[in-house]
Amino acid sequence: MAKIMQCDCGHVVRGETDDELVANVQRHAREVHDMEITREQVLAMARHE
Ligand SMILES: [Zn+2]
Repeated sequence: MAKIMQCDCGHVVRGETDDELVANVQRHAREVHDMEITREQVLAMARHE
């Protein structure tokens, strides 16, 4: 089941799998916020779509 995570900036990141969601969120955090986020943090904030 796809999952989504809404970033603090309002951007919504989506992934078909946990791995994809984590990778997409980490890329967004790095590119936009110059921030590193862990897999645990991503999954803790993720919701089912
Ligand atoms: Zn953001």
